[in-house]
Order: sequence, then structure tokens, then C-alpha cells
Amino acid sequence: MRVPPGVSEKDFVDALKQFEAAIGKEWVFSSEEDTDLYRDAYSPFWNEPEDPVPSAAVAPDGVEQIQKIFKIANTYKIPLWTISTGRNLAYGGSAPLLSGSVVLDLKRMNRILEVNEQNAYALVEPGVSYFDLYKYIQEKGLKVWIDPPDPGWGSPVGNSLERGGGRTPMRDHFGAQCGMEVVLANGDIVRTGMGALPGAKTWQQYRYGFGPYVDGMFSQSNFGVVTKMGIWLMPEPEAYREGIVQVQKHDDLIPFVEILSYLMNSGISQGTMLLESPLLDYRASQGGGVLDAPGGPSVAEMEKLARDKNLAYWSATLHFYGPAKVVDSQWEYTQEKFSAIPGVQFKDGRAYRFPVELKEGEEAPRVALGIPNLSIFGLIQSTHGHMDFSPIIPMTGEAVFESLKVFGEAYAELGVPPKNQFFALPWSFFPRSFVLIFGFPIEHDIEKNRKTREVFKRLVQVAAEHGWGEYRTHTAFMKTVSDVYSFNNHALRRFHETLKDAIDPNGILSPGKSGIWPKRMREAQG
Ligand SMILES: Cc1cc2nc3c(=O)[nH]c(=O)nc-3n(C[C@H](O)[C@H](O)[C@H](O)COP(=O)(O)OP(=O)(O)OC[C@H]3O[C@@H](n4cnc5c(N)ncnc54)[C@H](O)[C@@H]3O)c2cc1C
Repeated sequence: MRVPPGVSEKDFVDALKQFEAAIGKEWVFSSEEDTDLYRDAYSPFWNEPEDPVPSAAVAPDGVEQIQKIFKIANTYKIPLWTISTGRNLAYGGSAPLLSGSVVLDLKRMNRILEVNEQNAYALVEPGVSYFDLYKYIQEKGLKVWIDPPDPGWGSPVGNSLERGGGRTPMRDHFGAQCGMEVVLANGDIVRTGMGALPGAKTWQQYRYGFGPYVDGMFSQSNFGVVTKMGIWLMPEPEAYREGIVQVQKHDDLIPFVEILSYLMNSGISQGTMLLESPLLDYRASQGGGVLDAPGGPSVAEMEKLARDKNLAYWSATLHFYGPAKVVDSQWEYTQEKFSAIPGVQFKDGRAYRFPVELKEGEEAPRVALGIPNLSIFGLIQSTHGHMDFSPIIPMTGEAVFESLKVFGEAYAELGVPPKNQFFALPWSFFPRSFVLIFGFPIEHDIEKNRKTREVFKRLVQVAAEHGWGEYRTHTAFMKTVSDVYSFNNHALRRFHETLKDAIDPNGILSPGKSGIWPKRMREAQG
């Protein structure tokens, strides 16, 4: 039988019996057949002993059952690993970081507690998926939009706690969070923000409450288990339209991003923008990759190729949401601003008025229209999954050039094939910064995965040497990434550890999450 680290088989058998008494036998899973379902389907440790396996999973239906589980876990010092819908693919899936942990699966807690149309917010439990919330809103005919990530089967709670991103103006998911209920390791129930006021009338409207604002402490963390969360929605806009802007020369990127930043930071263009390059895509299709590898073509050669093939060097689709008159004016103003760049070209993109009825199979930017779906899995070409290296860089053209060069050199030095460069150009998931999302394929080949892990770790270092850090990472690299956030002799990590030891002295909640280990396991981690 699989047992949690440091727990005897006898104690674990006792604990499982107590879990069963607390939440019902049918909600405690300990057979290998059941627990294997919680392994990471995209594991970079495929078929290796380091692939983390849960020893059991427990699925409570509410806060009281969670409190009972914590009591038992504290008695036997059993590590738990919390998931909401457990779809964290590319970042660890539903598998624990510490092998042998018991998965605390919150999928049964799937109540939609409130959706408020007037002030555009919802209060949900962790097991509510984006699909569930969308369906609820549609069935009730409410004029509010959700903001799903690309795969709609995840949860507003799990995704927001990971600080994930979507496509609409509400794309910064943790930024759209307002008010939580959290169960601490000692079983105490904390409500944050206005929720601390019994009978509060504005828990999901005003986020700060009184005193220190602690909500962020429960994101990407192991300080508590979130059992309710408020999220802000978007009032259904009257219209959406896209405008495509293209420039011809390499150096046009500097004013291009300057104008983009102005438009996005002013709220004139909203939603997630992807910087594209038809020219670099063409080069990639010829085997050359997107990154700026040493010994590659000169700028003059690339510009000549752009002319010969009639391809723009840089391109972006901007998104506008709002009243029809306003989005038209915003697009017009956008064109005015970009006209400062000689040779710039504009194209109208897709446009919709709401409510819209999309036909099944109809091509449409569903995620940008707040419609959850799973079509992304048909677009990404990876057989056994992928994992994402996702550093944040400044939203400037200079930073984009630097990142293409720095990662181009690193890829060449590490011998990574150019085809592994998908998404080497930046996205604007979060305000005022760009995120690069380099997808690395997972293989059913131990040697290839080992090499990929080495490359990944090296890229974390290379990024850090240039002042860039990841916004989120796979469980396999949480220590590596936490190691580079090292200002003042790791003052932030030391602070996290101080909190961890105070709030969760037995270290039962998600040991190792974001590089935070409880005291009793810290030394073993080095
Ligand atoms: C092809 C592809 C495309 C993707 N596109 C996107 C995208 O566009 N945007 C994006 O953000 N992500 C994306 N992802 C990553 C991932 O699939 C999503 O972020 C997904 O929503 C996360 O799964 P989840 O919502 O089920 O969270 P979960 O797996 O339930 O939770 C994620 C983590 O949060 C913590 N956690 C969860 N619930 C709680 C709780 N109640 N209390 C305390 N801690 C908790 C745990 O550490 C857990 O591991 C993509 C992945 C793939 C494979």
C-alpha cells in the first residue's frame, strides 16, 4: 500500500478508517486504480520513480468535513494536497508535489452561491467549473460574462488561486477575485475582506475590508484551503470588435509596443493581446524557429524576406468591448495612434453584437467572448502533453528583442530544437507586463524528459539573470523558481516559512507548494 512519507502503514490504515467515518466510505479513495487517476497526465517524470503518486484521495462535501479531515491529518501528520477541479495540466495536473500526499479533492463542493447581475459578481465553491458557471448564467438569462481560461473545464477558484489568465477585460483572474472563505490547518474558518463582518452586505463588492489585506496569501500558497470565493464578472457588452495592426520593419516594434502599452494601459484596447509575427512564423515553418539564434539571418536579410514574401514583421489583433459606438471610436483612435509608424497597415477583424448565437463548429474567438470550451486541445500539437515555462518580461519592444536573443542563445547552447519554441512571442494576460509561454512537449521517453527538465531549470536561471521571473510554474520546478526569488538572502521565502510554521505547525497543507516547506520537512529539502 502507498503511504504518506513519515507515516507508518498502521497509522495510515487507522487514518483512512477515520476519514471514512468523517466523510463516508465512498468518498475515500485508496486503491491504486483510483489514486492513479490523480497522477499528472502531463508528468515530466513519466515512468520515473520521481513521478509523484498520491497515497489516497478524500472528497469532502463541505467545510465541516474539511475540518474533520484536518483534525485527522494533524493527528497523524498526513500531508494533504488541495485541488478544486484538478485540471492544472501543464503545471502539475491534480498530482501532489510531495509523493504520498493525500489529495483533498473539492470537486463535490460545487455550489454556485450567488450570481449578481447588477454589480457583476459571483460567489462560488471550489468544485464549480467555468462550464458550470456559464451554464447557470445562460439558463437564468443573466447579462454577465465569465472569463474562462483556454480550457473551460477548470474552476474559477483553482485557476484564480494559481493566478491564471483569460482573454476578456477580466483576464487577470486573481485580480478579479473579491472575498474568500478559507479553512486554516487548525480548522478555523476565516472570511477575508468584508466577509469578516457578520452579515456583511458587500463581501463580493469591496475587496479590502479593514486591516491588512490577506487574500493574496492564499494564492499559489499552502496557508489554507479556500472554500468560497467571490469573482468579478463582466457586464455583457453591446459589442465586440477586433482590429489588426501590422508593421513592416524590425525596429517598428519599439513604437508598436509603446503605442500598444498606451492603448492597453488606458483601457482603450482591452483583453489579452498576443504579439505575432507573420515573418517569424514563416521562418519557423521553414525550420528556423522564432527565437533570435546566434548565426541566424541579419535584420536586413529578414526585412528582405518580409518584402519578398509580402509578410508583416509584427502584427497584433487588438480587442475592443463596449457600446457599438464606443468600440468603433476606439478602433478609429487606435488607427490614428498607430499611423505614426510609416507603412503601418490596418485590417478589420471579427465583430459581434450581443447576445450572439454561435452555431456549433462556427469559427469564433469563443474564449474572448467569455464562452468556455476545450478547442485548445485540438490546436496544441503535443502527443503526451506539455509544460509551460512562463516568465514575465516588461511590456516594451526592447524587452521583446532582448528575450528573443537571450532565449535564442540559451536554446542554441542547450541544443533545443526550434520546433519547441511555440509561443515564444508575448501575451498580455496581465496588465502592464508581457508573459512568454514556452511550451515544452512531454514525451514517453525518459531521456528526452530528463533533458527537458535540465533545459527548463537552466531557462529559469537565464531568465533570472536578466531580471525576469516566472508567474507560475509546474510542481516539478517550484523549488527552482522559488530559489531565484532570492532578494536579501531569500527574505520573502523566510517570511513565507515563518507564516507557514505559525499557521500550519504540523505541515499538513500542500508541503512544497511554491517552494514553501513546513519546518519538519525543510532540512530534508536542503
Ligand atoms: C492546452 C492548455 C491550455 C491552457 N490554457 C490556460 C489559460 O489560457 N489560462 C490559464 O490560466 N491556464 C491555462 N492552462 C493551465 C490549466 O489547465 C488551467 O489554469 C486550469 O484552469 C487549472 O486547473 P483548475 O482550475 O482545475 O485548478 P486546480 O487544479 O484545481 O488548482 C490549481 C492549484 O491551485 C491550488 N488550489 C486549488 N484549489 C485550491 C483551494 N480551494 N484552496 C487552496 N489552494 C487551491 C492547488 O495548489 C492546485 O494545484 C492551460 C493548460 C493546457 C494544458
